[in-house]
Amino acid sequence: MSDQQTIHVGGEWRAAATGATREILDPADATTLAVVAEGGTEDTDAAIAAARTAFDQGPWPRTPVAERAALLRRVADLLQRDRESLGLLESRNAGKTLEEGRVDVDCVTDAFRYFADLVVNESGGRVVDAGSPDIHSVVVHEPVGVCALITPWNYPLLQASWKIAPALAAGNTFVIKPSEITPLTTVALIRLLAEAGLPDGVANLVTGPGDPVGARMSEHPGVDLVSFTGGLASGTKVMRAAADSVKKVALELGGKNPNVVFADACATDEGFDTAVDQALNAAFIHSGQVCSAGSRLIVEESLRERFVAELARRADRIRLGRGTDEGVECGPLVSARQLARTEEYVASALAEGAVLRAGGERPAGPAYGDGYFYRPTVLDGCHRGMRVVREEVFGPVLTVETFRTEDEAVALANDTEYGLAGGVWSADPGRARRVAGRLRHGTVWINDFHPYLPQAEWGGFGKSGIGRELGPAGLAEYRESKHVYQNLAPRPVRWFAG
Ligand code: NAD
Repeated sequence: MSDQQTIHVGGEWRAAATGATREILDPADATTLAVVAEGGTEDTDAAIAAARTAFDQGPWPRTPVAERAALLRRVADLLQRDRESLGLLESRNAGKTLEEGRVDVDCVTDAFRYFADLVVNESGGRVVDAGSPDIHSVVVHEPVGVCALITPWNYPLLQASWKIAPALAAGNTFVIKPSEITPLTTVALIRLLAEAGLPDGVANLVTGPGDPVGARMSEHPGVDLVSFTGGLASGTKVMRAAADSVKKVALELGGKNPNVVFADACATDEGFDTAVDQALNAAFIHSGQVCSAGSRLIVEESLRERFVAELARRADRIRLGRGTDEGVECGPLVSARQLARTEEYVASALAEGAVLRAGGERPAGPAYGDGYFYRPTVLDGCHRGMRVVREEVFGPVLTVETFRTEDEAVALANDTEYGLAGGVWSADPGRARRVAGRLRHGTVWINDFHPYLPQAEWGGFGKSGIGRELGPAGLAEYRESKHVYQNLAPRPVRWFAG
């Protein structure tokens, strides 16, 4: 495979049918990391046709569950074998720190192992009592068919794996389209699937832009399910495009996630230190380019000044740089577009009256050169009227709002059209559980922020999406239920005298 043969169709690596290519940039200095094929409609149709043939005629959908699970475990082992190179590739392409890249590989490994175990445990059908000894009635699981998987740039390997592992476990075939700016680890993963022994045609890949590649996958009548992770605007287009052929649609979209801090969580020095540290982690890990980033700090009024002053002090000290450099804590934003978007949101917030407590600009100095760096930014005095509070920035920007009562805290935390994730900090377990119970978000952390488990469903309320990834529901997305009703003693029913 040459660099530019990054389209995988029916087991073969190809260049784009048009010969078009795209340069993949290192966001730390805007130099070229790789050149990949820029696929189009013809490549997409070929990939879908290969996946269709592999599903309708190939062995994979009928491969015993234990063998499918064994393949997923081999993929997990290969991911661990290549942990260092994959972590490095992810770090360089997506701009995250090397350690984050390694952690992503470990999380992905866990996901493959989890779905291998789950599909074996949940392979049996369910016998239904039809009320007669003459009837044998059972509900069985079958794969949905050809899956179109579309992923974003912030966690390229992880998002691909959260879709690929359950899709394969359930016996589907697929076409994946990674983000056009971060395709490199997805190309590597597809190579690992082949090395693990996946039959040709089961896994297909088209590198290329959302339109036409993703758009074609979403509308194509040969696709049975589209699973999309990305922004709200693209997600609604996918859903519209999928409507005519009534595909199953799963959407993992954005978030505007509250981090609610009660003063009692900070009554001790240790509690204060932990809550501030975790608020930084919530907002600024991967430069805030995380769908579940805790980008809205909602802090009790009496604690506000002390908390925000310390938060801003520590935000200012976060070490920016190339993700692979020793001691770097935050890499660049992923692209010039994402940098411009962040600058624009901060400017609009300041124009609307926000008070800048940290950051608010690009870092100065030759070390940052042409890279897409932006300093971690804390904006105080924010309110719901501001765009920066309502809309997802997807950059290192934290807004601060305050509350006086528990009801007010809940109302603010739920005052978003999204509903992906949120955090609650309190030393009072009753209060913490009460507030968590009232939050309209798909994941709620109490006295923590960001951890997720492959065994627990991930997804959003409201405009954060439809469906769930991970957990048993993450496997169910890729399965059809079929009721098989067998009459052991058939007789005429005589509805018609005949
Ligand atoms: P994006 O919507 O721009 O792109 C996501 C993917 O969709 C890319 O592969 C892109 O090429 C493709 N795409 C674009 N237009 C399309 C179209 N018309 N039809 C089909 N596909 C199309 O998002 P992004 O900027 O890559 O990623 C950032 C967004 O992803 C943020 O909103 C973030 O919150 C979200 N995200 C959500 C989760 C989650 O689990 N909920 C996880 C990661 C990222």
